[in-house]
Amino acid sequence: MERIRGYKYRAYPNKEQREFFAKTFGSCRFVYNHYLAKRKAKWEECHDTMSYNDTAKDLANNLKKEHAWLKETDSTALQQSLRHLDNAYNNFFAGTGGYPKFKRKRTDQSYRTTNTNNNIRIEDNAIRLPKAGKVKIVNTRSFEGRIISATVSRTSSGRYYISLQVEEEYEILPNKGGEIGLDAGLTALYTDSENNKIENPRTLSKHEKRIRRLQRELSRKKKGSKNREKARIRLAREHEKVANIRNDFQHKMTYRLANDNQVVCIEDLNVKEMMGNHRLARSISDASWSEFFRKLEYKMGDRGGILIKVPGTYPSSQRCSCCGRQERKVRDLSIRSWTCPECGAKHDRDVNAAVNILIKGLEMLAS
Ligand SMILES: [Zn+2]
Repeated sequence: MERIRGYKYRAYPNKEQREFFAKTFGSCRFVYNHYLAKRKAKWEECHDTMSYNDTAKDLANNLKKEHAWLKETDSTALQQSLRHLDNAYNNFFAGTGGYPKFKRKRTDQSYRTTNTNNNIRIEDNAIRLPKAGKVKIVNTRSFEGRIISATVSRTSSGRYYISLQVEEEYEILPNKGGEIGLDAGLTALYTDSENNKIENPRTLSKHEKRIRRLQRELSRKKKGSKNREKARIRLAREHEKVANIRNDFQHKMTYRLANDNQVVCIEDLNVKEMMGNHRLARSISDASWSEFFRKLEYKMGDRGGILIKVPGTYPSSQRCSCCGRQERKVRDLSIRSWTCPECGAKHDRDVNAAVNILIKGLEMLAS
């Protein structure tokens, strides 16, 4: 079987390459924003849109002639930028995304380029990229497969990364055949139907405390000063640390779940709806559910397992997992444990919910 997988590497471009990257980031942003404005104006004037081909033609015939400096960058990257814009519009028209937004220098420092005639390849401890040449990387992950594209990005603390999209052959690995239900947590990341509560790593809260302190420090520094820039980088580094810790932890937990189980049942949470409830918002975004499930889904796919989404409307917390009685008063989130008046079973709120999610998921699988 074949699959597409991402491989991300820390990169150490030299001075010339850093300049080339900065120029390419800027050009891609410029092209994106230019055609976003154009498409927006066209829509407002005559309720008509421009296709990817329209914009690509205009880029080659007009914009590049007006702005010669656009020719100094990777031309594939500019086209990819138009593809991004087109995808953003498609998502908007399909109702799966908001109206495309203008890119900003602060937050949008990346470009994507595609592999043609093997012009993107790994050479020892470097990745060869069109026009940039050999960029030094830390070669932490190897693969066998065809590179489809490369995305170069710069974080706000000034670190560089190159992500390769690779098409590779793979064999389905066996799993241990377990069946488990997960209840998405507010304080814990999740509780499973076997009575385990998986907490987020402790180090996260330590770093989050530092983030709050660094934020205060930054706000006290004078605008435009060198010290402010230093404080901004310290803060950005801390944010990146938190993101890395969370990412590693998610990989570890999803790997374990996919290895041990043939069936994993989860609740299909409408995260957006829950985010509206401010009290819950922080912990939900912290647990970063959608990213967790994305990792779980592809890892389970690799091992031939099945991930079942139980509808979010299913009353998993209120139902007694022993006798099936529905106890409405348990809707109150502050009730952490309860006893079923029907059968006398004692329940931990979250474990009971996880067991119900498993029961419902297996029912769905059988029918
Ligand atoms: Zn009961």
